[in-house]
Amino acid sequence: MTTKDKRFPLTLSSVVSQKDNNGERAGSRTVATRTAMPQTAMRNAAHHSSGRPPHQPVQQVEIKSLNQTNLSAALSPSLLSGPLVSEGVRRAMVARVAQQGVKDATVLAALQAVPRHLFLESGMASQAYVDASLPIGYHQTISQPYIVARMVEIMRNGKELGRVLEIGTGCGYQAAVLSVVAKEVYSIERIKALHELAKNNLRPMRIANIRLHYGDGMIGLPKEAPFDGVILAAAGMEVPQALLQQLRVGGRLVAPVGGRNQVLQLIERVSNYEWKSSIMEQCHFVPLHSGVM
Ligand code: SAH
Repeated sequence: MTTKDKRFPLTLSSVVSQKDNNGERAGSRTVATRTAMPQTAMRNAAHHSSGRPPHQPVQQVEIKSLNQTNLSAALSPSLLSGPLVSEGVRRAMVARVAQQGVKDATVLAALQAVPRHLFLESGMASQAYVDASLPIGYHQTISQPYIVARMVEIMRNGKELGRVLEIGTGCGYQAAVLSVVAKEVYSIERIKALHELAKNNLRPMRIANIRLHYGDGMIGLPKEAPFDGVILAAAGMEVPQALLQQLRVGGRLVAPVGGRNQVLQLIERVSNYEWKSSIMEQCHFVPLHSGVM
């Protein structure tokens, strides 16, 4: 079931009670019981401190090769050498993400293309290809690869993406993934130090189609709107109205919504005055805050 409502934002209670009443959502490819691993990053870090991947059978997945003009052409061999970062290690991570239900080959190829270890401090790099969120400082995390892939898959819906907006750049990992699947990526971060960190992480990759902004993502980027897709990497109690307004008609916004219990919400702009909302699955993200610091 989906809802059509002209009055946005929807409150959390309205979307959660729909789920309770209806169980699985029509149009969502994943049942509500699929739960993204909580981004309890410190616990993840401790749990995986051996650097070994979790004991899960790893399936071979076929990953479509992409014309990664924006990213892989820019990556120098020195960024991609060393045992940690071999194709194989990343391929195993991508296989685990595919096993959890991500099917979009373009998204899996993007995950394969981005060297996640380059977004972590060196002490944490050995855990980069564990499918878990990890600390990046300032009480924030790099998102779990599964949830990054799932959100991009939902936003893409199998179609080419033009201009996309990410709220919550963090260390820049998801922006790099988006740069492979979208023509233009705009990303906003409210913590100055993380905005700088993302710039430093992305600079050596020389990705031409990412624009980083320091500011409050709840306001969006009206000057660059409309966007074909919007992704929020932090959870609010509702999706900010400004972001719904900056979505192109036909565009898709994916956001975690809620406090302790969060759900991944998809909002499609159906017309100038109409948005449609679906609940995809449970998730857990750091909170969305207003203002900058
Ligand atoms: N995209 C990241 C995940 C970062 S965690 C990745 O690639 O892994 C979420 C980020 O959202 C944090 O850095 C936090 O500071 C940021 N954030 C929270 N509220 C925000 C807001 N209103 N505007 C911009 N960024 C915000």
